[in-house]
Amino acid sequence: MTEISDREVQADKSTDALASREFRQGRRVTSGPATIRPSAVLGQTGSHMLLSLPRPAALSIGSDGTMVGRSAGYQKRLGDLAGTYRDEGAYQTALADHGADRIVYSVEESRVADGPGALIIGTSTLLPGRIGDEFALTRGHLHAIADRAELYHCLSGTGVMVLETIDGASQVVALRPGDALHVPGHWLHRSVNVGQEPFVTLFCYSADAGQDYGIIADAGGMATLVVDDGAGGWTTRRNPNHRGYQAR
Ligand code: MN
Repeated sequence: MTEISDREVQADKSTDALASREFRQGRRVTSGPATIRPSAVLGQTGSHMLLSLPRPAALSIGSDGTMVGRSAGYQKRLGDLAGTYRDEGAYQTALADHGADRIVYSVEESRVADGPGALIIGTSTLLPGRIGDEFALTRGHLHAIADRAELYHCLSGTGVMVLETIDGASQVVALRPGDALHVPGHWLHRSVNVGQEPFVTLFCYSADAGQDYGIIADAGGMATLVVDDGAGGWTTRRNPNHRGYQAR
């Protein structure tokens, strides 16, 4: 019963009534990591040993990107995306129309540990829209530790992932609910919402990966633009401003 008690304590700290109710009902008490007692792992007894290990985090993830049990979250706003869209005039018009505080995408995260082997699990909710003929997008990045891979799993909406390597390879993958994408290391990646609804993905990657955004800015943007095809859909077009990536 020790594990259940621990989880009830954790749930009581949560402000989310649903999570608390589910914990109390025992729905979230499983035979997962919580059954691995630190005392068994470390050969010691005493609940104080829990303090030296990351705590398992039970999460409830909604198709709208909500994450009960999250440890952090943040928003990216229109004003944060200066230089990201190819059409600077259209970007300035959008800033004037909607304001710099307009949310473009939001991220919820669960991070229970740092360092090699630890994971970050989260959701990304990218709102629909266009700047000029370019669809709403995330900044995009290469992992600072470039060999770190990432999983994306589409929970709702319609989007694409743009994937490029520094030596010029490019791939665009459409994602609908249920579709997943395994992004290997050394691939720059960006999400684009090509639909009318929020594009929501679940992601998971190494906690030590980090993000290098500057590599895209230094290259004049990613090589591939995802744009309105004029017929209610999307297509890709070469970014004329792209100068090629410089290896770091
Ligand atoms: Mn990433």
